[in-house]
Amino acid sequence: MESVLQINEIKKSYGAVQALKGVTITVPKGSVYGILGPNGSGKTTMLGIILDVLNADSGQYLWSNYESAQLARQHIGSLLETPNFYHYLSAKNNLEISANIKNRGYDDIDHVLKLVNLYERRDSKFSTFSLGMKQRLAIAAALLGKPDILVLDEPTNGLDPAGIAEIRTLIIKLNKEGITIIIASHMLDEVEKVCTHMAILKLGNLITEGAVKDVLNDEDSIEIDSADNKKLQLILSSYQGVKSMRTDRMINVILNNGFNTEDLNKFCYEQGIILNHIQRRKRTLESKFIEITQ
Ligand code: ADP
Ligand code: MG
Repeated sequence: MESVLQINEIKKSYGAVQALKGVTITVPKGSVYGILGPNGSGKTTMLGIILDVLNADSGQYLWSNYESAQLARQHIGSLLETPNFYHYLSAKNNLEISANIKNRGYDDIDHVLKLVNLYERRDSKFSTFSLGMKQRLAIAAALLGKPDILVLDEPTNGLDPAGIAEIRTLIIKLNKEGITIIIASHMLDEVEKVCTHMAILKLGNLITEGAVKDVLNDEDSIEIDSADNKKLQLILSSYQGVKSMRTDRMINVILNNGFNTEDLNKFCYEQGIILNHIQRRKRTLESKFIEITQ
């Protein structure tokens, strides 16, 4: 696995507040990487450090494909705080100002407007935009200069469901264009829907990290049913993939790391039991996340 960013044992305090307590994260090339955690868990601090806006107290980070941090910065687009666009200027004029601030030419303005689906509205005043459109324009500004990597802090904060959906679609589209995207978010749902990889932070500690399907799979419970659940239960009690099991009307199984629904299904079949129902339930993860976030 090729990585674009390696973060190693980063620590950062603000006076007595330890915002990051030694966090290690690897961001794979081509991923949408979610840094998930409740408010105050250290997400924005981490993004500030990797963007060189803040200094860590200790630890290192490395943007793998670039010889220097300065060179890396030229290939990273970021959105930490909402930019101050001019309300009375058009989308296009606002991006020209952003391009000036970044010392870039105007030649990719049309391209980024098309990417965020605002090209048709390029001459409309910023003040006429919905919140979702304003946020997409902010992402357009971050895309000036054709970055390989995009870093976004809570990109859907404050948006209505339609606006959130627009940003999600955009993130997935940009990733398909080859951009590695790092997103901080306090919403499990957001990370689950758009990210390929994730880290969970709580009070400056890394709780878990990895591919979303592994991190979430770990917490999935699988509901199964068969004609003979007594026999099924007996068989499952000898299966090494089972972490725990609960029976009510059906059987709820939590699997150990490295085992998935298919493995479970295959095992039952090989033991002579045909499942007539098999369904993954995310409820356990959600309750775990709520536990983490409280
Ligand atoms: P998140 O983005 O996950 O909400 P932050 O990185 O903003 O978390 O904050 C992590 C912790 O550091 C919080 O306890 C916050 O109050 C504290 N903190 C953040 N910035 C500052 C600052 N400039 N001065 C003092 N404390 C800060
Ligand atoms: Mg934050």
